[in-house]
Amino acid sequence: MSSQPHDIVILGNSFAGLRIAHVLLGDVIPNLPGPKRKFRIVFVAPSDRFYMNISSLRALARPPLVDDERLLPEFLPHFEKYRATAPVEFVQGYAAELDAERRIVIVKRTGDSTETVEVPYDSLIIATGTSTSTTAIKSRPTATAADIRKELHDLAAEIKAASTIAIGGGGTTAVELSSDLREAYPDKRVTIYAGNSGIVSAFPELQRRTVADRLTQKFGITIVNQRVTHTERNPKTGQYDITLAPAEGEATAATVESVDLYISAVGQTPNTGFLPKTVLDERGYVVSDSHLRVTGLAPRVYVTGDASALSAGNLDNVRTHTGALKETLKLELAAETAADESAFLYAVPKLKLPLHHFGVTLGSTGGVGLFNGHRIPSCILRLMKARDASISGAAVMVGGSSFSLKLLVAQVKKEQA
Ligand SMILES: Cc1cc2nc3c(=O)[nH]c(=O)nc-3n(C[C@H](O)[C@H](O)[C@H](O)COP(=O)(O)OP(=O)(O)OC[C@H]3O[C@@H](n4cnc5c(N)ncnc54)[C@H](O)[C@@H]3O)c2cc1C
Repeated sequence: MSSQPHDIVILGNSFAGLRIAHVLLGDVIPNLPGPKRKFRIVFVAPSDRFYMNISSLRALARPPLVDDERLLPEFLPHFEKYRATAPVEFVQGYAAELDAERRIVIVKRTGDSTETVEVPYDSLIIATGTSTSTTAIKSRPTATAADIRKELHDLAAEIKAASTIAIGGGGTTAVELSSDLREAYPDKRVTIYAGNSGIVSAFPELQRRTVADRLTQKFGITIVNQRVTHTERNPKTGQYDITLAPAEGEATAATVESVDLYISAVGQTPNTGFLPKTVLDERGYVVSDSHLRVTGLAPRVYVTGDASALSAGNLDNVRTHTGALKETLKLELAAETAADESAFLYAVPKLKLPLHHFGVTLGSTGGVGLFNGHRIPSCILRLMKARDASISGAAVMVGGSSFSLKLLVAQVKKEQA
């Protein structure tokens, strides 16, 4: 048995990074064929806490949640149970560069130290996800837990002080944020600038219309199908002047509106700046084969979760990626060479639009969603997410259990006891 452990370095400690680590330690490594070998798991991430980003919008609307321990729980203690299988180490910092030839990640430390360190790997899993333009909503490459909390508190205070709020973007973040804000602050005027493609354009037509109707009729939110092209804070009034492109098909000139607060909920940027451009698609997402092996690099470099070009940016993709990567790692950790295509039983499914599997909440009482094309009743969405914006599920995520209806029912019973 080699005295040197096989180092599996995981970049990112969010949903995808934690999930694959639990699967590796709980299932893949203990069941590898042949004589027992040594492994070591090394996490590299800017924060020593898992960020339950799904709950961030509710926390903006109801700021006491920002200080709730469940929003940013510690993650390392949840790996102590695997001590007999492999040690788990943590380097607090962010990948600044990949030296694929030397099989080293160059990491800039965050937190107490700002030094640069080299982290060698035998296998590398890229789970660095994406950032949102409003940085408090999703953790960016350099954000520590203290940074995340501060940004959430700062934005929550701006929201509290504003009477008129404009949200740019028509995706699920805009829908959930606007409905949460109107529920918490019924007197504030909230407008969504959804752009030319309108509200939740990835959803089928019927669900799109339902979401738009509920936002306008139940929550009193104004939806404008125009794109925000520029925002600027007016130093004299303190307000945001937002420039809007003319509505599609209209020849009128751009217009400017003034609001107390503008929040961008437009798109996401992949956290992949440390990788060579040759492994990224034109949007900056990591390109891989359908077994999540990164294309164009030496073997044993993998991608999972939102950073992957095969993801639509949701937890359903994290789930399918974890299944595929588990199989890939089972095959490739057992062998000296990369696994042949014929060895695989499973592949990451191709992305299809419109989505047939999604859920969007509308305040704390329900939402609109489909499961495999079938309507999810609003009361089920309330239980699954809307009632507490999933914050009670953070412990399940970080602890390594998969979501199940049984777990949810047990959770609700516990809360009601
Ligand atoms: C407000 C909101 C609500 C959502 N609600 C839902 C929902 O209800 N259902 C659903 O399915 N999906 C939902 N999503 C999407 C879901 O949150 C994402 O799919 C999920 O976060 C993806 O996890 P990830 O681990 O791939 O990436 P991320 O969560 O983006 O995490 C990336 C991790 O990598 C770290 N990192 C970044 N750069 C570096 C670097 N250079 N080096 C090291 N570490 C780095 C980050 O700090 C972070 O730990 C929601 C997203 C948001 C923002």
